[in-house]
Amino acid sequence: MATGRISLKNSADVAGLRKAAGVVERALAAAAALVRPGTATIELDRAAEAVIRDAGGRPAFKGYQMGGDTDPFPGSLCISVNDVVVHGFPSAYELQEGDVVSVDCGVELEGYFGDFAYTFPVGEVSEAAQRLLDTTRQSLYLGIEQAVAGKRVGDIGHAVQSFCEGRGYGVVRDLVGHGVGRRLHEPPNVPNLGRRGVGKKLKAGLTICIEPMVNGGTGDVTVDPDGWTVRTADGAPSAHFEHMVLVEKGRAEILSSYALIEAALAEARGEPLASPAASG
Ligand code: MG
Ligand code: MG
Repeated sequence: MATGRISLKNSADVAGLRKAAGVVERALAAAAALVRPGTATIELDRAAEAVIRDAGGRPAFKGYQMGGDTDPFPGSLCISVNDVVVHGFPSAYELQEGDVVSVDCGVELEGYFGDFAYTFPVGEVSEAAQRLLDTTRQSLYLGIEQAVAGKRVGDIGHAVQSFCEGRGYGVVRDLVGHGVGRRLHEPPNVPNLGRRGVGKKLKAGLTICIEPMVNGGTGDVTVDPDGWTVRTADGAPSAHFEHMVLVEKGRAEILSSYALIEAALAEARGEPLASPAASG
């Protein structure tokens, strides 16, 4: 998927990516507002697609061609419940108390792509499920810390892998993060495992999606006969968090944001709205 040359972005490119990420954020927030027991996952998809189209964007996943004889992806969101790792189809399945649901959204806006993901607990989830979500999310931020100019792709993967495996989880190796820009998937690949100091060197202006996919059991996965739906091989639950990141000298800048998503979650819980600046 991620073929060709690595492209470094100028400030206009970064502004375009930020704008596309903003539409993804609003689409995911619309989905977040609906995450509760009894909601069919197709309802999340419809709500997100309406936001994307109202913003003048195009759902980047809808109609995405995997290649071979696999049908194009049917949804605007990838909605992956429990043992589904990624690429789950939106469907009539109604979310149940205790589920964990990963929602990934891609948008093309004015020639730039936004792509990021969040995993939601549905109602009250088990302590084990919450720990998986927390660990996956923390590992994303640890990976992001490594996304600075002069480091290498392996530094990101190492940070994610060592943290998650240290907590007893399995990191999915068959699926990886990627560059993002005027294409949804650009080089380089950004695996969630790796060795320090190994792999492509990160340069200022590189924009990448870092997206740990972490399983409650082993990191092994299978793919359903539909050619898309990726599941844990052992049936354990899985979580997925993704951010879009700009590599700079001395620091990584996150171009995407969970602020509106978390505001929607807080509102759904009846909590006072937190300051958007308070969340990543
Ligand atoms: Mg991605
Ligand atoms: Mg994604």
